[in-house]
Amino acid sequence: MEPDCLFCKIAHKQTDTEILHETDALVVFKDINPHAPVHLLIVPKKHIRSVNDLGADDHDVVSKLIFSARDMAKQMGINESGYRIFFNVEKGGGQMIFHIHLHMIGGWR
Ligand code: AMP
Ligand code: ZN
Repeated sequence: MEPDCLFCKIAHKQTDTEILHETDALVVFKDINPHAPVHLLIVPKKHIRSVNDLGADDHDVVSKLIFSARDMAKQMGINESGYRIFFNVEKGGGQMIFHIHLHMIGGWR
């Protein structure tokens, strides 16, 4: 855990952010500034800065993020209508919080 990292604080329940789903490896919560009717963030408990910083032992983390996004899409009822999942990578890629997270957006009519 990085002391000054917002997503570390959220993942370790040090904020009042509502956690929609939690496992040993990750948490899921709503994006505070949603870009779609459903906009969730899937965030590993392990602090990793970005996709660029994934290590050889992080395959499992990435896999769990994607499977969790898939499961959350079903839980939110948007799996059949469809959704997007994406990582922003570093400033030029739109990343603002430097703790890796998977966006899951959907629910458009
Ligand atoms: P990114 O631009 O990929 O780093 O995405 C960071 C996302 O985190 C943005 O979509 C923000 O709206 C969202 N965000 C920032 N602070 C919070 C927070 N306290 N709770 C939930 N989402 C947040
Ligand atoms: Zn962090």
